[in-house]
Parts: sequence; structure tokens; C-alpha cells
Amino acid sequence: MTASGMPPVRIPFNRPYFSGREFDYMRRALEAGHISGDGDFSKECQRLLERTLGVPKVLLTTSCTAALEMAALLCGVGPGDEFVLPSFTFVSTANAFFLRGARPVFVDIREDTLNMDEHLAAEAAGERTKAIVPVHYAGIGCEMEPILARARAVGASVVEDAAQGLGAAWHGRPLGTAGDMAALSFHETKNVSCGEGGALILNDPGFVERAEILREKGTNRSRFFRGQVDKYTWVDIGSSFLPSDLLAAFLLAQLERLDEITGLRRRLYERYAQELAPLERGGRARLPVIPAHCQPNYHIYYLLLDDVRTRDALIAHLRAAGILAVFHYLPLHLSPVGRSLGYQDGQFPVTESVSGRLLRLPLYAGLTAEDQERVISTVLAFF
Ligand SMILES: *Cc1c(COP(=O)(O)O)cnc(C)c1O
Repeated sequence: MTASGMPPVRIPFNRPYFSGREFDYMRRALEAGHISGDGDFSKECQRLLERTLGVPKVLLTTSCTAALEMAALLCGVGPGDEFVLPSFTFVSTANAFFLRGARPVFVDIREDTLNMDEHLAAEAAGERTKAIVPVHYAGIGCEMEPILARARAVGASVVEDAAQGLGAAWHGRPLGTAGDMAALSFHETKNVSCGEGGALILNDPGFVERAEILREKGTNRSRFFRGQVDKYTWVDIGSSFLPSDLLAAFLLAQLERLDEITGLRRRLYERYAQELAPLERGGRARLPVIPAHCQPNYHIYYLLLDDVRTRDALIAHLRAAGILAVFHYLPLHLSPVGRSLGYQDGQFPVTESVSGRLLRLPLYAGLTAEDQERVISTVLAFF
């Protein structure tokens, strides 16, 4: 027992993947004498991502949040503008645009994938909408067509929050490549990580030059280093959005193993799906849905229980066995900020219901078969 009276955690919810080459690459960055941003490792990460995703430009950032903030700047959102997003998401999806003074217009999610309902999003977008921000929850692609069509009709940008999406595809296209731009996360909790990190994907080459300026403190330093201007100076607003090359070195060691990481997670995911299927058949829990045209990256394995009481009791049951299972987003429209904007209980029934019933099971590349078996048998024993 620990001081809190709880047994120690034997199986954590997440444990970061480690390829084994991270320290070697970091030492090389140190030896090369370039540990600030945009060194060789940053460039190699960007090239690798551009090749993997088939996009014109990827810029590494200090986080997905930073990439979303850059996207908000590139969209030119400001006071009086609106942006459309799901209420069931991480706070950064909203905050990046809210920070610029724009107003969030929340919509509900679909019952099956828990992604933003694309038809509700299209309806919610209007003349004031500067951006529509779909979130690919659990690495399952949103239905992009109605969103892209509506964005074109009202002159809004589409910014994909693909924080959880690396390695996944929709109709064969990697997530993050359908909108005008997209944000990836390399936070410790994501499939590929460097602790804290992210990337901005630019699918429209028209955004590249300004994005480079915003990322380099509002200067044209990137053009200077390419020899395109003979000195660099202050040309626009901006901030410092680029990560140290030490972190890029760490990240490269993982990006090179993307397929291996996805494969390891796939095995675990499929085992959960197979062994927990009786729960769904017996009406005890709803398991994740993967539409046929979605290639997942196995980012999250969740259970949807009957009600909040059952969900919390299962979390406690697992915790008593030393297993950490966790809930996920509290609806943003019911947060203090959401309520201050006039949102109320009952507006988004699917979001509100799912938020109280969802439980995520441990899922990480290094989860052993033995530990997973313990998780599964402990879940089954609960019922
Ligand atoms: C993890 C996550 C973020 C934030 O990523 P950071 O890299 O921590 O800034 C944003 N949106 C979603 C959907 C996420 O899952």
C-alpha cells in the first residue's frame, strides 16, 4: 500500500516508447554544436514527415498547441470571428483560436467514431466562420467532405487537429493532409513522442513563407539562412515556436520507427477487441468503431459503459488491482469558459453522455502480453 492507501500502480496507463537510438542522436546533435532550433535533426524530421505524409511542408514546433496557435495566426482569426470545433476535445483546440479573440462555436460528436458530426459542423459554419477545426479522435479520421465543402462556401480555412493522428489514414490519405493545414503532437502520451513537441503541416504552399516568419519571432530569418535575403529583420508578428534540435534528435529516433510502433499497438488493440467482444455482445459495453475507410493508428482503446457510476466503479476496480485506466475530455462547452460564453447543459447530448461513460485502457508499445492479459481479466472479472 502507498501513503494514500492505494496499492502501487503496476500497469500504468501509458509508458513512452523508446527506440534505443534517442541518446545516440542527441549526442550527435551536441557534438555537431547545433542544439537550438532548425538544425540537421529538425530538418531530417521535417523531410521524413513530408515524405511520409506526401505534403509540401512540415514545420516542427514546441507542441501541438503551438502548431495550432500558428494555424490560428495563419488563418487571420481575430475578434468578431468564429471558429467551429467539437466540444469533445482537448482545450488547446479551442484555446489557440480563442487566444486571438475569436469565438468558439461548439458542435456535438457522432455516436460511432466520437468525431465531430460533420453535418452539424457544416450547419454551424457561417459568414463569420474563419476556421473549422475537426479533431481526429483516437486516430480515426473525421468525415472531411462536408467540412471541406462548407469551408470553401463560406471562405473559412480547415485546420485539422491531428494531434492523435500520425500513422493513420482516411480513404488512404494520411490524416492531416485534407485540410489547409494540420497540427500533430509529439507529447509523451502520443504514439510517437519527444516529451513535448509538435508539427504544423502545411498543405497549401501559399502559407509556407508566412509560417516560417511567424515561427521565427516575426523575422525573415529562414530566408536569410537560405541566402534569399542578405540580412534578417522584423517583418511581421510572431513568436518562438521552434523546438531545440536536441528534441528533434530524440524525435527522429522515434519517427524512423513509426511503422514498428503502429504495428506493436495494433497487436494490442486487436487483442483487446477480440477478448472484450463478449462485453459488447452481452450489452455491457460499447467498443471502438473503425469505419471501413479509416486506417487507424491504434492510439486509444476505450470502453463506453452504461453510465458514469459503472465507469467510475470500473476505474476504481482496476485501480485496486494496480491498473491505471482513465476517463477523457470533460465537455468544453460546460467548462467555466464555455459557460461564460453562454453554453449550457443539454446542448450536446452525445458529448455529455460519452464524456461520463468513456474509459481508456492502458495501451502503449511496451505493454507486455502478460500485463495486457491482466488488464483484460480484471475488466472481465468486474462484470
Ligand atoms: C494531445 C492533444 C493536443 C495537445 O498537444 P500538445 O502537443 O500537448 O500541445 C491537442 N489536441 C488534441 C486532440 C490532443 O490529443
